[in-house]
Amino acid sequence: MTKTLAVLGSTGSIGVQALEVAELMGFEVQALTANSRTDIIEEQIRKFAPKIAAVADEKAAADLKIRVADTSTKILAGKQGVEECARCGADTVLNSIVGIAGLAPTLAAIDAGSNIALANKETLVAGGKIVLDAAEKKGISILPVDSEHSAIFQSLQGCQGKSQIKRLILTASGGPFFGKKKEELENVTIEQALNHPNWSMGAKITIDSATMMNKGLELIEAAWLFGMKAADIDILVHRQSIVHSLVEYVDNSVIAQLGVPDMRIPIQYALTYPDRFVSPVKQLDLAQAATLTFEKPDYETFACINLCRKAFEMGGLYPAAVNAANEKANELFRNGKIRFLDIPRAVEAAFDYTADVSDYTLEQVFETDSLIRSETERLFI
Ligand code: NDP
Ligand code: MG
Repeated sequence: MTKTLAVLGSTGSIGVQALEVAELMGFEVQALTANSRTDIIEEQIRKFAPKIAAVADEKAAADLKIRVADTSTKILAGKQGVEECARCGADTVLNSIVGIAGLAPTLAAIDAGSNIALANKETLVAGGKIVLDAAEKKGISILPVDSEHSAIFQSLQGCQGKSQIKRLILTASGGPFFGKKKEELENVTIEQALNHPNWSMGAKITIDSATMMNKGLELIEAAWLFGMKAADIDILVHRQSIVHSLVEYVDNSVIAQLGVPDMRIPIQYALTYPDRFVSPVKQLDLAQAATLTFEKPDYETFACINLCRKAFEMGGLYPAAVNAANEKANELFRNGKIRFLDIPRAVEAAFDYTADVSDYTLEQVFETDSLIRSETERLFI
């Protein structure tokens, strides 16, 4: 179990909740990182007194250094600074950075021998094999924070081997546009797309939920984490977000994890596994929830899901490519530069620009990422 903790991306939605859990559990927080929000990280530094903290944006880091000059926390800057925090040697490094920016820090933390509590799903999507090989070599665990993956992980406790598992079923809220057809999505606004029905999250993942790219990324994440074929992972739309995912065993017995939609449950489990502790999260009242519904996704309207499935099945650099196209298109949509349905179009276009290789290096992952980002911009702007 975790006693010392580093939180990468501590100023974000998951990061802030991770620190709530850390405070409650009495963990010693050794390192914190942000991109540019110095006001939030300053508060966190004053509260948790980590040994080191880093801000990726160099200017913001210089500003933070002045602001916390009266504390004993050492302030680092840039990507290297974030990686140095990842290498702090804490029992667990919780990575809640958004996007591929989390990949190098995950590898740095693994290299330093820390267990990983992983919220940053893009890390596994883009660098799956590299990350898993590094973790295996060091003998460290990657514990899922993503609620669906935590649910699967919890439902797998007691499983006597992979041959017992028939399939994994990831649930999806369906996002704000559930039930709508493609034609109705052509002109949706950023505000509409940011209006998630069940979860309050960072902007990028909220848009990923609206396109359902999030479920595609999660399918790849699950395939890597649990060593499953994409064909053995199904998706069910479950509007209430109470059943967080399920495992079907060979005897057709299905085990699921349920709870109110609150990320502090999976965060805490990743940090206290295999133990469980009292949590301030609301108790689930199934009688009040009354109806739980399940249905198949509309794969035509939400094309990103199957594009991710295809990318994982094609293997090599394709998952990194669809992730890069989505990250860029998601950002362009949030900045008002492209339309909502350009996001799945960009993800589809990425296949044409990706080198078809079966083995790949970390450098190739980063090269693919920047190539696909610039192609996305060239094609859609
Ligand atoms: P937020 O946007 O709320 O937070 C992102 C964090 O990453 C912030 O601390 C941000 O710093 C930091 N950051 C952003 N860009 C960089 C960069 N280039 N280098 C270093 N740090 C950076 O995101 P969320 O907390 O919502 O999501 C984080 C991750 O967790 C994502 O991968 C998401 O898919 C995953 N996740 C989130 C869930 C949720 O409920 N929010 C649920 C399941 C998974 P700053 O604040 O300074 O910008
Ligand atoms: Mg999730």
